[in-house]
Amino acid sequence: MSSDTDAAAIGDRLSAVRQGIADACARVGRDPAEVALVAVSKTKPVELIRAAYAAGQRDFGENYAQELRHKVETLSDLSDIRWHFIGPLQRNKVKIVVGHATLLHSIERVDQIDAVEKRAATLDVVQQILLQVNLSGEQTKAGTTEQQTALLLRACEAAPHVRCVGLMTMPPLAEDPRQSATYFEQLRQLRDELGGPTILPHLSMGMTHDFAVAIAHGATLVRVGTAIFGARQYRNPSI
Ligand SMILES: *Cc1c(COP(=O)(O)O)cnc(C)c1O
Repeated sequence: MSSDTDAAAIGDRLSAVRQGIADACARVGRDPAEVALVAVSKTKPVELIRAAYAAGQRDFGENYAQELRHKVETLSDLSDIRWHFIGPLQRNKVKIVVGHATLLHSIERVDQIDAVEKRAATLDVVQQILLQVNLSGEQTKAGTTEQQTALLLRACEAAPHVRCVGLMTMPPLAEDPRQSATYFEQLRQLRDELGGPTILPHLSMGMTHDFAVAIAHGATLVRVGTAIFGARQYRNPSI
């Protein structure tokens, strides 16, 4: 019964987030159709993903390769669902993820690009990716440096089965979401230096606490978990 109740709440929570996206777009004169909502379902059961799907949600984000594989298999009847891989990608997990995920948000090294190229070539697909940039310089944060981003972009251009369609970032967690603004603006500027929106159309930035700020700075993909699925418990993050 309690999981029914949780599932029933998902539709309302999703509506509230979609309204938040529409409001943020209205404030800066953007078309809400330019901003895709990625519902981050990591650690959450497949029943809640089904509930979100029933409420019209199609894009879902996962952080762990095995968990992604499990969910792809369990939800294979939802034929138009799109999976986004947003967590750190170990080389030995590339095989699991490529071909299952519409978009990999977290590519940060040349060896990952090489591994994705190899796997995508084997599957005869073109894998779309984003380059994750660490703009705060925090050692604990994933992502490449601003300086290295052009080099990674060139590595993608040389890989026929990898297509880089934009940049992703995760600012340091701050009490006040407005503190994310400088990082979001930096990512947009970096994108513009690297060729602008015709070359790199996507900016993946903004989570539950700061997606409205991200939209004001040009986000085209917002990754929202907690506001849709509730707080996470990390009992078994590796499944
Ligand atoms: C978990 C996660 C999110 C979602 O965070 P919320 O605060 O729950 O919205 C977004 N992006 C990445 C990379 C994540 O790991």
